[in-house]
Amino acid sequence: MSFDYDLFVIGGGSGGVRAARVAAATGAKVALAEEYRMGGTCVIRGCVPKKLMVFASEFPNAIEDAQAYGWDVSSGDFDWTDFRTKMHAELDRLEGIYRRLLDGSSVRAYDARATIKDEHTVTLSTGEDITAKHILIAVGGRPVKPELVNVDLGITSNEIFLLEDLPKSILIIGGGYIACEFAGILNGLGVEVTQYYRGAQILRGFDDEARGLIADQMRDKGVNLHCGTNILEMERRDGKIWTKATNGTEATFDQVMFATGRTPNVEGLGLENVGVNVGRLGEIIVDEYNQTNVPSIYAVGDVTDRVQLTPVAIREAMAFVETVFKGNPTPVDHELIPSAVFTQPEYGAVGLTEEQARDQEPIEVYTSSFRPMQTLFAGREDRVLMKLIVSQATRKVLGVHIVAPQAGEMIQMVGIAVKMGATKEDFDRVCAVHPTMAEELVTMKSPTRTA
Ligand code: FAD
Repeated sequence: MSFDYDLFVIGGGSGGVRAARVAAATGAKVALAEEYRMGGTCVIRGCVPKKLMVFASEFPNAIEDAQAYGWDVSSGDFDWTDFRTKMHAELDRLEGIYRRLLDGSSVRAYDARATIKDEHTVTLSTGEDITAKHILIAVGGRPVKPELVNVDLGITSNEIFLLEDLPKSILIIGGGYIACEFAGILNGLGVEVTQYYRGAQILRGFDDEARGLIADQMRDKGVNLHCGTNILEMERRDGKIWTKATNGTEATFDQVMFATGRTPNVEGLGLENVGVNVGRLGEIIVDEYNQTNVPSIYAVGDVTDRVQLTPVAIREAMAFVETVFKGNPTPVDHELIPSAVFTQPEYGAVGLTEEQARDQEPIEVYTSSFRPMQTLFAGREDRVLMKLIVSQATRKVLGVHIVAPQAGEMIQMVGIAVKMGATKEDFDRVCAVHPTMAEELVTMKSPTRTA
């Protein structure tokens, strides 16, 4: 049987674009459909614009610190419109690069929505049917709002990058990394930020000690954070949004943002036409080679709800190409993935949390918490946490948690050692780099506790 293409990729995000390009480089005939903008969530409404906003939001502190260091500088006003225009120009530039990369790899790009018609056929929103030997689903996910009357008065992370004006005040609902990052960003940009999270502590799934420190410092920096609290009612009143919380508080905000989770983009994708198995949340179920129960159909990235991060989607895409187009079956390694949360303070983590590790085996916990030199001098109360979790039996470092400026950069490096199976004694053999914050990672002599 002959097909129009060897591979048809649905979705032009982190996973889809990488898979299409690398498959085409093997000589395969490849096409890709993207219904919105090339680059996907990461480039258009995720990691990239968010990090630019983090950078923008850090200047008020930097200016205060500069004053403390003797500089005669003063902070002016933040011009959101100017920043937003430049940010979107940068996103346009990056989207252009993605398009050129596809072009340059001879991938045929369709600006259209694709749905699955049968095991080897997709239908485009243009009405065209296209056949392919393999179909790769890389459609990502989208934000979900809770069921609540008038919920559409609120926005999600999709809209935050498009706001015409910065609100004077915002209520952020949620306690995950996206909610907490935007609480810090908007607070830094001068917005009055209130955050409600229904759970007992923000950043569920991360190390408890790190979560506590981040929550405390978010509050110290001005975020009005309420855990154990949720939104109960909302309505438009006098051009603002009136809200009532589960604790009875009534308050009015210019804007409400829901960061209450994401769901796989599988609605109307035609999975039922071919019987692709999905999980409870609609996530596509794949084996370790990214293959669904329909042999010609594969899936990578957020739509499979394994680890929802850009570099993971990219690795899954590479493993898919290696397996299907290079004849080298390659499972995806989801162990010991380092990650960063761009809260203020920033958090980097790799491996197990203290809670996970002590459930698994006897451990030693090494911690160092201190006021770093740079901000201490400027009179700030900011605290840093460096934490190692060590197996008593094997001496391996099972987890590293860093709450500090540039923690993301640090955890990338420590992640190499942890992935290599370094022991506490391997860490100790490394000479400190002085004066740095990270030197604490190799100078902690006695455990703070055992468990
Ligand atoms: P996506 O990048 O979402 O791409 C899917 C694409 O498919 C989209 O462009 C969509 O328009 C398209 N599509 C959907 N359905 C169809 C269809 N039927 N036909 C055609 N096209 C379709 N990750 C990190 O690693 N670090 C971070 O700092 C980080 N920050 C984030 C901040 C925010 C606010 C958000 C929302 C996410 C962030 N992420 C971050 C997560 C990261 O963006 C995702 O893990 C990553 O983009 C997943 O890639 P993907 O290829 O699976 O899907």
